[in-house]
Amino acid sequence: MSEKITLVGGGLAGSLMSIYLAKKGYDVHLYERRGDMRQGKYEGGRSINLALSTRGINALSKLGLVDEILGISIPMKGRMMHSTAGDLAYQAYGRDDQAIYSVSRGELNIRLLQLADEYENIHMYFDHKCIHANLETNEMTFVNAEGQTVKVVSDVVLSTDGAFSAVRDSMIRYPRYNFSQNYENYGYKELEIVPDSNGNFQMDVNSLHIWPRSSFMMIALPNPGGNFTCTLFMPYDGEVSLSNLQTKEQVSQFFDTYFADAVPMMPNLVDDFFNNPTGHLATMRCYPWVKNKVALMGDSAHAIVPFYGQGMNCSFEDCVVLDECIDKYPGNWAKILDEYQKLRKPNADAIASLALQNFIEMRDLVGLPEFLHKKHVEHDLIKLYSDVYKSQYERVTFSNDGYLDALNWGAKNDALLEKIISEKLEDKITDQNFIRDLISQMK
Ligand SMILES: Cc1cc2nc3c(=O)[nH]c(=O)nc-3n(C[C@H](O)[C@H](O)[C@H](O)COP(=O)(O)OP(=O)(O)OC[C@H]3O[C@@H](n4cnc5c(N)ncnc54)[C@H](O)[C@@H]3O)c2cc1C
Repeated sequence: MSEKITLVGGGLAGSLMSIYLAKKGYDVHLYERRGDMRQGKYEGGRSINLALSTRGINALSKLGLVDEILGISIPMKGRMMHSTAGDLAYQAYGRDDQAIYSVSRGELNIRLLQLADEYENIHMYFDHKCIHANLETNEMTFVNAEGQTVKVVSDVVLSTDGAFSAVRDSMIRYPRYNFSQNYENYGYKELEIVPDSNGNFQMDVNSLHIWPRSSFMMIALPNPGGNFTCTLFMPYDGEVSLSNLQTKEQVSQFFDTYFADAVPMMPNLVDDFFNNPTGHLATMRCYPWVKNKVALMGDSAHAIVPFYGQGMNCSFEDCVVLDECIDKYPGNWAKILDEYQKLRKPNADAIASLALQNFIEMRDLVGLPEFLHKKHVEHDLIKLYSDVYKSQYERVTFSNDGYLDALNWGAKNDALLEKIISEKLEDKITDQNFIRDLISQMK
């Protein structure tokens, strides 16, 4: 098979997809706007940590890469909530053997590029920015570091150039193209909890830490170096907002008031706050994802807010599904790409909605006693009836079933939990016949 496939964007989806294609013997050409991050040229690469979960792991394991990547990751088995007074409350994510994995986005991307480089049929071009995509002729136009224009024609083009995709910009110009972009009134700041003087973690290493404060929140994910990458999510405007954190004193006072337990572990807090850029949060939906032999993948097709920790996992799942479609319709790219977009679009829309729902849960609900009670009841159901009951979180995070199924089941789960709580049936939770009967009525 010598078809030439161009990938525009060597981020997470592009580097992984290049390996899938190389294994099938295609002539793969990967173009990346930035310099080679393996040489330390990870410009603009903030220290974002990602939660890798079952879908992403599945995509990696199909290529035999899972041990390699889990080797640079840290398992997180639950959420650790920090109250304003500094009290801790722990919620396991699922069963004892289930975890999500904290991994540095930059490190992961570097590893994937290194692994891609082992294939002779993958050709990489850094400092090549796509400036135009001709979707009729498959001619992509890049500008390289020297300012030269490079035109590339290939049999198939995969757009993996992220949320602000240049390829999608060309697709949008076609008649009746659907595209929406919704920004949250929230920005985020990357901050850091440092290791102690012995280089050890200062908080539980196997948890994703959350400081829920209703209209804003901070989270922290562990890094192998003993530190935690923290992300503060806050509204731009309003009484407690980024716009009211303009001076060092305001920032210190804000953290002392709301995150007092974290402050002693954040010696660079104020400098980090002012030196690190503010990130923005948007949901982008578009359709179709395919024009002729050009297809969108990853964030270029479906940028979502990060609150379910699924953007990369969903993008990696795109790679699995496209790979399966290639197997199903050998050489028939019209069918391959059409089936790929039809299978993925409903699920991408579902995870976009789930991610927005989870924002409210993480920011607001996880601090409420009623919500914690509901989670405890659900945890009992998961423990006692794992053969028939799965939480929405489990379906999203620890399964490869469609995101749309997870969205639909979530609503049914919620109705069951509401019934148990409102009718005060908690003491019947171990009554196998009774609860199994209730669960079976959900279908
Ligand atoms: C704060 C935050 C937290 C997140 N947390 C999680 C998480 O916990 N779990 C999770 O699964 N996901 C998470 N995500 C989402 C995840 O980072 C993205 O979904 C994922 O990176 C998408 O991969 P991608 O390859 O499509 O895009 P990207 O990783 O953005 O890669 C796109 C690549 O294309 C390149 N490029 C862009 N334009 C051009 C051009 N014109 N020409 C050539 N190259 C170009 C870029 O330089 C980049 O290398 C998070 C995102 C954010 C912002």
